[in-house]
Amino acid sequence: MTSIVFTGIAELVTNDSLLEGADHSESLGLLAEAAVVVEDGLIAWVGPAAQAPPADGQQDVGGRAVIPGFVDSHSHLVFAGDRSREFAARMTGVRYDGGGISATVSATRSAGDDELRGLLAARVAEMRAQGTSTVEIKSGYGLNVQDEVRALRIAAEFTSETTFLGAHVVPPEFADRRSDYVDLVIGEMLAACAPHARWIDVFCEPNSPHAFTEDEARLVLSAGRDAGLGLRLHGNQLGHGPGVRLAVELGAASVDHCTFLSAEDVAQLAAAADSTVATLLPGVEFSTRSPYPDARHLLDAGVSVALATDCNPGTCYSSSIPFVLALAVREMGMTPAEALFAATAGSAKALRRGDIGVIRVGNRSDLTVVEAPSYMHLFYRPGVPIARSLDPAGRHRR
Ligand SMILES: [Zn+2]
Repeated sequence: MTSIVFTGIAELVTNDSLLEGADHSESLGLLAEAAVVVEDGLIAWVGPAAQAPPADGQQDVGGRAVIPGFVDSHSHLVFAGDRSREFAARMTGVRYDGGGISATVSATRSAGDDELRGLLAARVAEMRAQGTSTVEIKSGYGLNVQDEVRALRIAAEFTSETTFLGAHVVPPEFADRRSDYVDLVIGEMLAACAPHARWIDVFCEPNSPHAFTEDEARLVLSAGRDAGLGLRLHGNQLGHGPGVRLAVELGAASVDHCTFLSAEDVAQLAAAADSTVATLLPGVEFSTRSPYPDARHLLDAGVSVALATDCNPGTCYSSSIPFVLALAVREMGMTPAEALFAATAGSAKALRRGDIGVIRVGNRSDLTVVEAPSYMHLFYRPGVPIARSLDPAGRHRR
């Protein structure tokens, strides 16, 4: 057992509402001139630097801010191919309708295991270099039994938060046989994928001809639940629809996008705030030139809100939580404190994880350092790479 005490923390964001002596004026549980002791990958002590207990080693972070590692609770990182031309077309006015996903499906099916693994490793490393310590990774570019299982197996080498998304879109070969594809997803494909997944997800979007209806989505999620998987849902992205209603009805951990919501949707999310999180993905609205979700309205109504990247080759090829934070504050009316909480403790809640997102004794020692004396610089200096994960050995990575 080796312990390390981190000192020289000018400002520590804990998200711990019970931490004695912290500033609780916002949700961040801020502690000035703090120290954190880490032992065997867990947090062993948090408090004022002057009271820090001795440890086997010491690391001075040099007057910087430390925050909980970002939790990116929504990504699609297992893919091959390039859709930059589709992005360019959208920037000149072509609308997104979910159709480009099939281009990624054919590139991903053609890629070898090592190629996919290498691409995924590079994307996860890119996230860590920007301060993300936990990432959820979905399948959904295989869309047949063999390639969905392969995506999940490779994703599981990098995270325990793997999500089976066989119901991403109806693949072209099933275009005239939608119900046959749903039967495959909830039958043979689910049986093969469930051992490699923690979650099941579905793109429930009646406004896209490629995605799934309310009835189809209910079938998929119910079958996933019966197979022991937790539930997530892509909903209300392209227009008003049944996604939020279905997520709340089935007790999903998260309903993601939430761009187009009715008053009834917001009321349902507020009533379900303990169990179902609204995960906002503003990088998608940025990259598809769409209106942003009304985060201010959701927060004021009492909805649990998370922020994530949705990093994917079509609608948002950014792995950067700091970019998402900047959008949340600049475009969606969130305060910096609300945005940072949503991308750490909020997204941990969206994954039903109590051991990450909050810096408290017993939790995982996922710490991110900010090259500045205050977390506020994450917002004050958009586009500047000032957040990075501390590695598990506790060294301050440069
Ligand atoms: Zn997504």
